[in-house]
Amino acid sequence: MSLIQKISSTLGISGFKSRIQGWVFKKKLLKFSGRFRWEPEACFYCPEMCRFACPVAETLRDNTVTPRGKMSLLHLAERGFTPESVAGGPAQRLWFLEQCTGCGRCTEFCVHENDVATQLRQARAEHFSRESVRLSPAGSLTEQVDAREVGRSLEALRALEGVVVLCEPGRREWWLARPKLLEELGATSVCEAWLPHREWSWGKLSELRIDEIGDALSDCTQLWVESPDAAWFLAKAVKEEREALGAEVRLVWQRFFAEMAARELPLGTSFHESYFLSRLFPRLGYSVPMYERGLLPFHSGWNVHDCGGEGHYRLAHPGNARAIGERFLADLVKDGRALDKIVCQSWSCMEHLRGISEAKVVYWLDELFDGAR
Ligand code: SF4
Ligand code: SF4
Repeated sequence: MSLIQKISSTLGISGFKSRIQGWVFKKKLLKFSGRFRWEPEACFYCPEMCRFACPVAETLRDNTVTPRGKMSLLHLAERGFTPESVAGGPAQRLWFLEQCTGCGRCTEFCVHENDVATQLRQARAEHFSRESVRLSPAGSLTEQVDAREVGRSLEALRALEGVVVLCEPGRREWWLARPKLLEELGATSVCEAWLPHREWSWGKLSELRIDEIGDALSDCTQLWVESPDAAWFLAKAVKEEREALGAEVRLVWQRFFAEMAARELPLGTSFHESYFLSRLFPRLGYSVPMYERGLLPFHSGWNVHDCGGEGHYRLAHPGNARAIGERFLADLVKDGRALDKIVCQSWSCMEHLRGISEAKVVYWLDELFDGAR
Protein backbone atom coordinates (compact mmCIF):
# COMPACT_ATOMS: atom_id res chain seq x y z
CA MET A 1 0.00 0.00 0.00
CA SER A 2 1.32 3.43 -0.91
CA LEU A 3 1.85 6.08 1.72
CA ILE A 4 -1.13 8.09 0.37
CA GLN A 5 -3.34 4.98 0.57
CA LYS A 6 -2.19 4.33 4.13
CA ILE A 7 -3.02 7.89 5.17
CA SER A 8 -6.39 7.72 3.36
CA SER A 9 -7.30 4.47 5.05
CA THR A 10 -6.26 5.84 8.45
CA LEU A 11 -8.57 8.81 7.89
CA GLY A 12 -11.42 6.43 7.20
CA ILE A 13 -11.80 7.06 3.49
CA SER A 14 -12.43 3.40 2.62
CA GLY A 15 -13.66 0.33 4.44
CA PHE A 16 -15.45 -0.15 7.79
CA LYS A 17 -12.29 -0.99 9.74
CA SER A 18 -10.58 2.03 8.32
CA ARG A 19 -13.56 4.18 9.21
CA ILE A 20 -13.25 3.02 12.83
CA GLN A 21 -9.54 3.80 12.71
CA GLY A 22 -10.33 7.20 11.23
CA TRP A 23 -12.86 7.91 13.95
CA VAL A 24 -10.32 7.05 16.63
CA PHE A 25 -7.69 9.07 14.84
CA LYS A 26 -9.87 12.13 14.55
CA LYS A 27 -11.11 11.81 18.10
CA LYS A 28 -7.58 11.59 19.37
CA LEU A 29 -6.43 14.36 17.11
CA LEU A 30 -9.26 16.70 17.86
CA LYS A 31 -9.79 15.86 21.48
CA PHE A 32 -7.10 18.06 22.83
CA SER A 33 -8.97 19.29 25.81
CA GLY A 34 -7.27 20.80 28.82
CA ARG A 35 -9.31 18.60 31.10
CA PHE A 36 -7.22 15.57 30.20
CA ARG A 37 -3.63 14.57 30.70
CA TRP A 38 -2.64 16.22 27.45
CA GLU A 39 -2.18 19.53 29.19
CA PRO A 40 1.62 19.79 29.42
CA GLU A 41 2.06 18.09 26.05
CA ALA A 42 -0.44 20.46 24.40
CA CYS A 43 1.60 23.43 25.59
CA PHE A 44 4.89 21.83 24.59
CA TYR A 45 3.82 21.64 20.94
CA CYS A 46 1.80 24.84 20.92
CA PRO A 47 2.60 28.02 18.94
CA GLU A 48 1.71 29.92 22.13
CA MET A 49 -1.59 31.56 21.34
CA CYS A 50 -1.74 32.71 24.95
CA ARG A 51 1.71 34.18 25.28
CA PHE A 52 0.66 37.82 25.03
CA ALA A 53 -1.78 37.30 27.91
CA CYS A 54 0.74 36.19 30.53
CA PRO A 55 1.61 39.14 32.80
CA VAL A 56 4.77 37.48 34.09
CA ALA A 57 6.24 36.60 30.70
CA GLU A 58 5.32 39.95 29.22
CA THR A 59 6.76 41.94 32.10
CA LEU A 60 9.94 39.93 32.59
CA ARG A 61 10.34 39.71 28.79
CA ASP A 62 11.53 36.19 29.28
CA ASN A 63 10.55 33.34 26.99
CA THR A 64 11.33 30.74 29.61
CA VAL A 65 8.39 31.88 31.75
CA THR A 66 5.66 31.94 29.14
CA PRO A 67 2.80 29.53 29.91
CA ARG A 68 4.33 27.18 27.35
CA GLY A 69 7.80 27.55 28.87
CA LYS A 70 6.58 26.66 32.35
CA MET A 71 4.35 23.82 31.18
CA SER A 72 7.20 22.40 29.11
CA LEU A 73 8.97 21.63 32.37
CA LEU A 74 6.06 19.40 33.32
CA HIS A 75 6.04 17.67 29.95
CA LEU A 76 9.78 17.07 30.06
CA ALA A 77 9.37 15.56 33.53
CA GLU A 78 6.71 13.22 32.08
CA ARG A 79 9.29 12.17 29.51
CA GLY A 80 11.82 11.39 32.21
CA PHE A 81 14.03 14.46 32.13
CA THR A 82 15.43 15.30 35.56
CA PRO A 83 15.26 18.79 37.17
CA GLU A 84 19.04 18.90 36.89
CA SER A 85 18.98 18.35 33.15
CA VAL A 86 16.21 20.88 32.40
CA ALA A 87 16.75 23.63 34.96
CA GLY A 88 19.95 22.92 36.86
CA GLY A 89 18.26 21.39 39.91
CA PRO A 90 14.95 21.17 41.86
CA ALA A 91 15.26 24.64 43.42
CA GLN A 92 15.91 26.27 40.06
CA ARG A 93 13.00 24.36 38.53
CA LEU A 94 10.78 25.58 41.36
CA TRP A 95 11.64 29.19 40.51
CA PHE A 96 10.15 28.69 37.04
CA LEU A 97 7.08 26.91 38.43
CA GLU A 98 6.48 29.89 40.72
CA GLN A 99 6.48 32.46 37.91
CA CYS A 100 2.72 32.36 37.69
CA THR A 101 0.29 34.72 39.36
CA GLY A 102 -2.53 32.21 38.90
CA CYS A 103 -4.49 34.78 36.90
CA GLY A 104 -5.98 32.32 34.41
CA ARG A 105 -5.52 34.64 31.44
CA CYS A 106 -3.71 31.96 29.43
CA THR A 107 -6.63 29.55 29.96
CA GLU A 108 -9.02 32.21 28.79
CA PHE A 109 -7.17 32.66 25.52
CA CYS A 110 -6.28 28.99 24.96
CA VAL A 111 -8.41 27.05 22.48
CA HIS A 112 -7.85 23.94 24.60
CA GLU A 113 -8.70 25.82 27.81
CA ASN A 114 -5.57 24.47 29.38
CA ASP A 115 -5.61 25.18 33.09
CA VAL A 116 -1.98 26.18 33.40
CA ALA A 117 -2.27 27.75 36.85
CA THR A 118 -3.69 24.60 38.42
CA GLN A 119 -1.06 22.41 36.77
CA LEU A 120 1.71 24.65 38.04
CA ARG A 121 0.22 24.71 41.53
CA GLN A 122 0.08 20.93 41.58
CA ALA A 123 3.66 20.73 40.35
CA ARG A 124 4.76 23.04 43.16
CA ALA A 125 2.84 20.91 45.66
CA GLU A 126 4.68 17.83 44.36
CA HIS A 127 7.96 19.67 44.75
CA PHE A 128 7.26 20.68 48.35
CA SER A 129 5.95 17.24 49.13
CA ARG A 130 9.17 15.66 47.83
CA GLU A 131 11.30 18.18 49.66
CA SER A 132 9.30 17.54 52.87
CA VAL A 133 8.48 21.19 53.35
CA ARG A 134 4.72 20.93 53.06
CA LEU A 135 3.04 22.20 56.13
CA SER A 136 1.68 19.74 58.59
CA PRO A 137 -1.49 20.42 60.58
CA ALA A 138 0.57 21.02 63.67
CA GLY A 139 3.36 22.93 61.98
CA SER A 140 3.93 26.58 61.49
CA LEU A 141 2.02 27.63 58.45
CA THR A 142 3.95 30.15 56.57
CA GLU A 143 6.12 33.14 56.39
CA GLN A 144 3.07 35.16 55.32
CA VAL A 145 0.34 34.07 57.71
CA ASP A 146 0.90 33.93 61.41
CA ALA A 147 0.26 30.33 62.58
CA ARG A 148 -1.32 31.56 65.81
CA GLU A 149 -3.79 33.65 63.82
CA VAL A 150 -4.72 30.58 61.78
CA GLY A 151 -5.08 28.54 64.98
CA ARG A 152 -7.37 31.18 66.44
CA SER A 153 -9.24 31.33 63.16
CA LEU A 154 -9.84 27.57 63.21
CA GLU A 155 -11.27 27.89 66.69
CA ALA A 156 -13.50 30.72 65.50
CA LEU A 157 -14.60 28.69 62.45
CA ARG A 158 -15.58 25.73 64.63
CA ALA A 159 -17.99 27.95 66.57
CA LEU A 160 -19.89 28.99 63.42
CA GLU A 161 -23.19 27.63 62.23
CA GLY A 162 -25.89 28.39 59.68
CA VAL A 163 -25.42 31.32 57.30
CA VAL A 164 -22.24 33.24 57.94
CA VAL A 165 -20.30 36.16 56.47
CA LEU A 166 -16.58 35.43 56.32
CA CYS A 167 -15.02 38.85 56.06
CA GLU A 168 -11.54 40.17 55.43
CA PRO A 169 -9.43 40.37 58.59
CA GLY A 170 -10.09 43.70 60.29
CA ARG A 171 -13.51 44.26 58.70
CA ARG A 172 -15.81 42.55 61.20
CA GLU A 173 -16.83 45.86 62.82
CA TRP A 174 -17.69 47.30 59.41
CA TRP A 175 -20.14 44.45 58.85
CA LEU A 176 -21.58 44.50 62.34
CA ALA A 177 -22.33 48.19 61.92
CA ARG A 178 -24.52 47.35 58.88
CA PRO A 179 -27.21 44.95 60.12
CA LYS A 180 -29.35 45.62 57.03
CA LEU A 181 -26.65 44.17 54.76
CA LEU A 182 -26.37 41.10 56.97
CA GLU A 183 -30.13 40.74 56.87
CA GLU A 184 -30.04 40.93 53.08
CA LEU A 185 -27.57 38.07 53.02
CA GLY A 186 -29.57 36.13 55.59
CA ALA A 187 -26.45 35.90 57.75
CA THR A 188 -26.60 35.49 61.50
CA SER A 189 -22.91 35.96 62.26
CA VAL A 190 -19.74 37.54 60.93
CA CYS A 191 -16.32 36.02 61.28
CA GLU A 192 -12.93 37.34 60.25
CA ALA A 193 -10.62 34.50 59.44
CA TRP A 194 -7.01 34.17 58.37
CA LEU A 195 -7.37 31.41 55.83
CA PRO A 196 -4.19 29.83 54.42
CA HIS A 197 -5.28 30.35 50.82
CA ARG A 198 -1.95 31.79 49.76
CA GLU A 199 -0.11 28.78 51.13
CA TRP A 200 -2.44 26.53 49.20
CA SER A 201 -1.90 28.43 45.99
CA TRP A 202 1.86 28.03 46.42
CA GLY A 203 1.44 24.29 46.96
CA LYS A 204 2.55 24.47 50.56
CA LEU A 205 -0.60 23.45 52.36
CA SER A 206 -1.09 19.80 53.28
CA GLU A 207 -4.31 18.02 52.38
CA LEU A 208 -4.85 17.32 56.06
CA ARG A 209 -4.89 21.00 56.83
CA ILE A 210 -7.37 21.65 54.04
CA ASP A 211 -9.65 18.92 55.43
CA GLU A 212 -9.33 20.44 58.88
CA ILE A 213 -10.71 23.74 57.61
CA GLY A 214 -13.66 21.98 55.95
CA ASP A 215 -14.30 20.10 59.16
CA ALA A 216 -14.24 23.29 61.22
CA LEU A 217 -17.00 24.71 58.98
CA SER A 218 -19.18 21.61 59.11
CA ASP A 219 -22.06 23.31 60.96
CA CYS A 220 -22.35 26.07 58.36
CA THR A 221 -24.90 25.88 55.59
CA GLN A 222 -23.91 28.94 53.58
CA LEU A 223 -20.76 31.05 53.56
CA TRP A 224 -20.88 34.57 52.16
CA VAL A 225 -17.23 35.28 51.54
CA GLU A 226 -16.00 38.83 51.12
CA SER A 227 -12.56 38.09 49.72
CA PRO A 228 -12.57 36.57 46.21
CA ASP A 229 -9.26 34.79 46.87
CA ALA A 230 -10.41 33.28 50.17
CA ALA A 231 -13.67 32.25 48.50
CA TRP A 232 -11.71 30.57 45.70
CA PHE A 233 -9.73 28.59 48.27
CA LEU A 234 -12.93 27.39 49.96
CA ALA A 235 -14.78 26.62 46.72
CA LYS A 236 -11.91 25.11 44.75
CA ALA A 237 -9.56 23.57 47.30
CA VAL A 238 -11.80 22.62 50.21
CA LYS A 239 -15.09 21.95 48.42
CA GLU A 240 -14.25 20.81 44.90
CA GLU A 241 -10.85 19.19 45.14
CA ARG A 242 -10.98 17.76 48.69
CA GLU A 243 -14.78 17.45 48.98
CA ALA A 244 -14.34 18.49 52.60
CA LEU A 245 -16.94 21.25 52.73
CA GLY A 246 -20.72 20.86 52.78
CA ALA A 247 -21.65 24.54 53.01
CA GLU A 248 -22.52 26.52 49.93
CA VAL A 249 -19.86 29.10 49.08
CA ARG A 250 -21.22 32.44 47.89
CA LEU A 251 -19.46 35.65 47.05
CA VAL A 252 -20.60 38.93 48.58
CA TRP A 253 -20.12 40.36 45.08
CA GLN A 254 -22.86 38.08 43.73
CA ARG A 255 -25.45 39.84 45.90
CA PHE A 256 -24.36 43.46 45.71
CA PHE A 257 -22.80 43.75 42.25
CA ALA A 258 -25.92 45.27 40.65
CA GLU A 259 -25.74 48.43 42.74
CA MET A 260 -22.06 48.76 41.93
CA ALA A 261 -22.63 48.17 38.22
CA ALA A 262 -25.39 50.79 38.17
CA ARG A 263 -23.07 53.39 39.56
CA GLU A 264 -21.63 55.78 37.05
CA LEU A 265 -17.96 56.27 37.81
CA PRO A 266 -16.67 59.77 37.17
CA LEU A 267 -13.90 60.39 34.70
CA GLY A 268 -10.62 59.67 36.42
CA THR A 269 -12.05 56.84 38.50
CA SER A 270 -11.24 53.35 37.39
CA PHE A 271 -12.54 49.98 38.52
CA HIS A 272 -10.03 47.21 39.21
CA GLU A 273 -11.67 43.83 38.88
CA SER A 274 -10.53 40.62 40.50
CA TYR A 275 -9.54 37.75 38.23
CA PHE A 276 -11.09 35.32 40.70
CA LEU A 277 -14.48 36.76 39.85
CA SER A 278 -13.91 37.45 36.20
CA ARG A 279 -12.05 34.32 35.18
CA LEU A 280 -11.81 31.63 37.83
CA PHE A 281 -15.25 31.32 39.43
CA PRO A 282 -17.17 31.14 36.13
CA ARG A 283 -15.02 28.11 35.30
CA LEU A 284 -16.33 26.37 38.40
CA GLY A 285 -19.85 26.92 37.11
CA TYR A 286 -20.55 29.85 39.42
CA SER A 287 -22.84 32.53 38.21
CA VAL A 288 -20.87 35.65 38.93
CA PRO A 289 -22.93 38.49 37.45
CA MET A 290 -21.09 40.54 34.81
CA TYR A 291 -18.44 37.87 34.58
CA GLU A 292 -19.98 35.02 32.65
CA ARG A 293 -17.72 33.34 30.12
CA GLY A 294 -16.98 34.98 26.83
CA LEU A 295 -17.33 38.54 27.98
CA LEU A 296 -13.67 39.28 28.54
CA PRO A 297 -11.68 41.40 28.39
CA PHE A 298 -13.00 44.80 29.38
CA HIS A 299 -16.44 43.37 29.04
CA SER A 300 -18.38 45.70 31.24
CA GLY A 301 -17.95 48.84 29.20
CA TRP A 302 -16.93 51.16 31.97
CA ASN A 303 -13.57 52.29 33.10
CA VAL A 304 -12.40 48.85 34.11
CA HIS A 305 -9.01 47.30 34.24
CA ASP A 306 -8.19 43.68 34.44
CA CYS A 307 -6.19 42.17 37.28
CA GLY A 308 -2.96 40.33 36.53
CA GLY A 309 -2.97 38.48 39.84
CA GLU A 310 0.11 40.10 41.27
CA GLY A 311 -1.57 40.72 44.63
CA HIS A 312 -0.89 37.07 45.45
CA TYR A 313 2.31 36.63 43.54
CA ARG A 314 3.90 39.60 45.31
CA LEU A 315 4.19 37.60 48.52
CA ALA A 316 6.68 35.27 46.89
CA HIS A 317 8.22 37.56 44.27
CA PRO A 318 7.64 41.16 45.36
CA GLY A 319 10.05 42.72 42.86
CA ASN A 320 8.47 41.00 39.86
CA ALA A 321 4.97 41.72 41.14
CA ARG A 322 5.77 45.37 41.49
CA ALA A 323 7.17 45.45 37.96
CA ILE A 324 3.95 43.87 36.63
CA GLY A 325 1.80 46.42 38.46
CA GLU A 326 3.89 49.38 37.29
CA ARG A 327 3.88 48.21 33.69
CA PHE A 328 0.18 47.63 33.84
CA LEU A 329 -0.60 51.09 35.25
CA ALA A 330 1.75 52.71 32.74
CA ASP A 331 -0.12 50.93 29.92
CA LEU A 332 -3.41 52.36 31.16
CA VAL A 333 -1.98 55.86 31.23
CA LYS A 334 -0.61 55.32 27.70
CA ASP A 335 -4.13 54.36 26.66
CA GLY A 336 -5.23 57.78 27.85
CA ARG A 337 -6.99 56.69 31.01
CA ALA A 338 -7.00 59.07 33.91
CA LEU A 339 -6.19 57.33 37.16
CA ASP A 340 -7.13 59.66 40.00
CA LYS A 341 -8.95 56.96 41.91
CA ILE A 342 -8.97 53.15 41.63
CA VAL A 343 -11.88 51.20 43.10
CA CYS A 344 -10.73 47.66 43.91
CA GLN A 345 -12.75 44.48 44.13
CA SER A 346 -10.08 42.76 46.16
CA TRP A 347 -8.32 43.70 49.38
CA SER A 348 -5.18 42.00 48.16
CA CYS A 349 -5.06 44.07 44.94
CA MET A 350 -5.72 47.18 46.96
CA GLU A 351 -2.71 46.57 49.17
CA HIS A 352 -0.56 45.92 46.11
CA LEU A 353 -1.73 49.00 44.21
CA ARG A 354 -1.38 51.29 47.22
CA GLY A 355 2.32 50.57 47.15
CA ILE A 356 2.83 51.48 43.52
CA SER A 357 0.20 53.99 42.43
CA GLU A 358 -0.30 57.60 43.35
CA ALA A 359 -4.01 57.22 42.68
CA LYS A 360 -6.41 57.07 45.61
CA VAL A 361 -7.15 53.37 46.09
CA VAL A 362 -10.48 52.45 47.69
CA TYR A 363 -12.31 49.23 48.44
CA TRP A 364 -15.48 48.57 46.47
CA LEU A 365 -17.72 48.00 49.51
CA ASP A 366 -16.56 51.29 51.03
CA GLU A 367 -17.19 53.03 47.72
CA LEU A 368 -20.61 51.48 47.39
CA PHE A 369 -22.00 51.87 50.89
CA ASP A 370 -20.00 54.71 52.38
CA GLY A 371 -19.75 56.88 49.29
CA ALA A 372 -16.61 58.13 47.64
CA ARG A 373 -13.91 58.81 50.21
S1 SF4 B 1 -2.10 27.30 27.50
FE1 SF4 B 1 -2.98 26.76 25.51
S2 SF4 B 1 -2.40 28.44 24.16
FE2 SF4 B 1 -1.04 28.53 25.94
S3 SF4 B 1 0.79 27.35 25.40
FE3 SF4 B 1 -0.62 25.94 26.45
S4 SF4 B 1 -1.81 24.98 24.82
FE4 SF4 B 1 -0.85 26.81 23.95
S1 SF4 C 1 -2.16 31.80 34.88
FE1 SF4 C 1 -1.54 33.90 34.34
S2 SF4 C 1 0.53 34.14 35.17
FE2 SF4 C 1 0.07 31.93 35.14
S3 SF4 C 1 0.92 31.24 33.22
FE3 SF4 C 1 -1.23 31.74 32.84
S4 SF4 C 1 -1.24 33.86 32.13
FE4 SF4 C 1 0.77 33.46 33.06
